[in-house]
Amino acid sequence: MLKINDINVFYGAIHAIKGASLEVNEGEIVTLIGANGAGKSTILRTISGLLKPKGGSIEFEGRDIAGLPAHEIVKCGISQVPEGRRIFAEMTVLENLELGAFTRKDKDGIKEDMEMVFNRFPRLKERISQLAGTLSGGEQQMLAMGRALMSRPRLLLLDEPSMGLAPLLIKEIFAIIQDINKAGTTVLLVEQNANMALSIAHRAYVLETGRITLSGDAKELAASEDVRKAYLGG
Ligand code: ATP
Repeated sequence: MLKINDINVFYGAIHAIKGASLEVNEGEIVTLIGANGAGKSTILRTISGLLKPKGGSIEFEGRDIAGLPAHEIVKCGISQVPEGRRIFAEMTVLENLELGAFTRKDKDGIKEDMEMVFNRFPRLKERISQLAGTLSGGEQQMLAMGRALMSRPRLLLLDEPSMGLAPLLIKEIFAIIQDINKAGTTVLLVEQNANMALSIAHRAYVLETGRITLSGDAKELAASEDVRKAYLGG
């Protein structure tokens, strides 16, 4: 479904991604794990069109999307939940969700998806008119995920959904990610919480200072001595 081949990404003179390749197959949850500053968010931002790669290619469903503007990439069927949620604090829950559907014109479909989001996140329905900035951290994560789902993506990019959340809420959010995947959405999940990410992913990649150093079946990586030492606290 998504094929990234040998991309390089720079911030000015800083060479953040050094020839990375990875693949996500339809139906999978794939996780990209790695330490602070390894370049995980940079890869997601490059897929979603916020950064342009130098060289290499990014193919989505057979089409080269590298360098397309971000709104075109949303139209292709890819939606990102950014790190730190980035919800619109001064707007209501409903307005945030409506904005997630900005590329669509099918009113009936949008209504259907709004219902789907409220079924998945009943707490958002209870708070439909509340200003998003007054939601709790977990509710804001739910809103950011709901907003991304409103574009009806086939590939959902999640950047550190566990950030700043209590363990119980992390469990809840990860269970929802699994449900979304089971309902047919493919997921690329970036996480520092490697334990949780590997527990729900089918496959995983390890990123170290801009390079993919390991990849494979998530259960096998979780059991590997190197990964345990470096990312799973022994
Ligand atoms: P974290 O888990 O801490 O979010 P990450 O793996 O997502 O880390 P990135 O945010 O992708 O890492 O950053 C990769 C590298 O690029 C880091 O060295 C970072 O300092 C650098 N970097 C990120 N954004 C910029 C920017 N806007 N300008 C310059 N350098 C940047």
